[in-house]
Amino acid sequence: MKVGYVYDPIYLKHDTGQHPENANRLEAIISHLEQTPLIRQLTLIQPRAASIEELSSVHSEQHIAHVQQVAHEGGGWLDADTVMSSDSYSAALYAAGGVIRASEAVMQGEVDSAFALVRPPGHHATATRAMGFCLFNNVAIAAKYALAKYSLERIAIIDFDVHHGNGTQDSFYDNPQVLYVSTHESPFYPGTGYIEETGKDEAKGTTVNIPLPAGCGDGEYLSVFEQIIVPVVRRFKPQLILVSAGYDTHWADGLAMMQVSITGFAQMVRIIKELAEELGSGRLVFTLEGGYNLTALAASVKATFDVLLGSASIEDPLGQSPRRLATPSIISLVNKIKEIHNLA
Ligand SMILES: [Zn+2]
Repeated sequence: MKVGYVYDPIYLKHDTGQHPENANRLEAIISHLEQTPLIRQLTLIQPRAASIEELSSVHSEQHIAHVQQVAHEGGGWLDADTVMSSDSYSAALYAAGGVIRASEAVMQGEVDSAFALVRPPGHHATATRAMGFCLFNNVAIAAKYALAKYSLERIAIIDFDVHHGNGTQDSFYDNPQVLYVSTHESPFYPGTGYIEETGKDEAKGTTVNIPLPAGCGDGEYLSVFEQIIVPVVRRFKPQLILVSAGYDTHWADGLAMMQVSITGFAQMVRIIKELAEELGSGRLVFTLEGGYNLTALAASVKATFDVLLGSASIEDPLGQSPRRLATPSIISLVNKIKEIHNLA
């Protein structure tokens, strides 16, 4: 298995100051990977800046110009949660371009799978605005790029970040070529991602939302993967799978209330990998979204690489959640989603 990763120090220059989404996140990931022999098994993929034309496949010219202008003025707040510095526009172009490069490397067979270790993250950014720590929607831009460049007919985006990827959903809500499947805590930021949101017109059924109550752990997530995500992706037959990998679903994360462990992430990644292989292509591109507990984040990303490389075992230094929250029942929710999406 040849596995690539995208990284460049330019991603550290997106200076957010005292903010949970800061450069320490990527530094923690890279230094953790460098402490293990694993890094030598990975192929470094150099990112490039996404072009304005590529950004425009998802974003309005006004939004792109606004982000550029705020950078030019030395930075500032784009909304109540989202801050940028003078170098953030460049970093954001390279974040989008990084996921494009990861997709190219996979599509051209340079690697079997790839993980774009980029920031700022992307899945909340909509056509017209930055929000939720995201400036441009990296995964959506890469999906549009891959559809056009390789004349693909179907791409699936699986989003296991603890937040709903409202921007990604919006980008493809009326596009039957892209299946968007999201697990997320609900009710929670950004307040979207209800089960009834399933896509529009000919894209009806290509948005699959799995809003989960706080407190769900590995068992609930694996059940959702088995009962909903695997059958829905299998039915769609994507030629490429992109993953919005957010590790804020981990129990130790300070921003949310889920109970997933590193072992749980590894199991989800294994399911996704096997799904990609089963569908014939094996083409799989991960991109980093959230994850704010540095220990959990770094070890989860490493576990993701271990699974992609085909390792039989992974390390879970944090173990299972010590918090004994009553596990919520999701049986009726899962049945309802299966009914909406004809998965019975
Ligand atoms: Zn998140």
